[in-house]
Amino acid sequence: MTFYSDIPAIRNWLATVRAAGKTVGLVPTMGALHDGHLSLVRLAAEHVDTVVVSIFVNPTQFGPNEDFNRYPRDPDGDRALLEPIGVAAVFAPESHEMYPPGHATTVTVRGVTEGLCGASRPGHFNGVATVVTKLFNIVRPDVAVFGQKDAQQLAVIRRMTADLNMEIEIIAAPIVREPDGLAMSSRNRYLDPDERRQAAVIYRALEHGRTMAASGVTGVRELVAAVHDEITGAPAARIEYVDIVDPGNMAPVEDVTGEALCMVAVRFGGTRLIDNMMLIAG
Ligand code: AMP
Repeated sequence: MTFYSDIPAIRNWLATVRAAGKTVGLVPTMGALHDGHLSLVRLAAEHVDTVVVSIFVNPTQFGPNEDFNRYPRDPDGDRALLEPIGVAAVFAPESHEMYPPGHATTVTVRGVTEGLCGASRPGHFNGVATVVTKLFNIVRPDVAVFGQKDAQQLAVIRRMTADLNMEIEIIAAPIVREPDGLAMSSRNRYLDPDERRQAAVIYRALEHGRTMAASGVTGVRELVAAVHDEITGAPAARIEYVDIVDPGNMAPVEDVTGEALCMVAVRFGGTRLIDNMMLIAG
């Protein structure tokens, strides 16, 4: 497994990979890796010959008062996790490599970015769309894998690749959870033990919503209220949103008739957690 931090070096290596007729898959991450990330790598390896993982804490997707500076960074731990699972290369650029002086381009995806995390984190998805476009242009992968955990991000990437005619297959990976149901996240390590224990309420609440929808409750107001109530049963939880949306365009739905995605963002102390679950009408 080779580490690359500069763009010409990884491009040179990728040219030899392609010349050998091998397909390339990209798994973009911000590092501080956990089993959720590793599941993306394994899924990529089922589709391509050569897997590249990028590790870049992208400054442009963090707001001025967000956790960019304290976001966990663990290059040695990341290397130890990736080495045994057959990753060919890691691309871990410095900020100045991705955003040299004079960088002036932002990719904006409208519509799908407007609600949910787009509303509470202004500019976040511009940063995501811009960095993912750059990573796609640097690596030129045949496929790229993104987690369903960040469902709105996945919808943004799908919209962007379709709109900009990017010839890259986007593959969604299911959410990997801790034994108590909490979705794995690099940010879980911010939680103190009491917050960590309480955070399992998110999964229980989503399961409750899923059970209600499966047993015939279709009204979004009723479903949202039930998920909301369950979460507020945890004293440390501060709900940012609970919404039920169309998984393709992230637009709110009024009734759950076929499938709809229940999306939540909840703060525990200073830690913001997101999760989601598909509701399937019974
Ligand atoms: P991040 O490093 O948090 O930017 O995440 C990198 C990729 O891993 C994104 O596509 C995430 O959706 C995905 N991911 C993060 N956590 C999980 C998880 N628990 N299960 C599945 N995918 C995940």
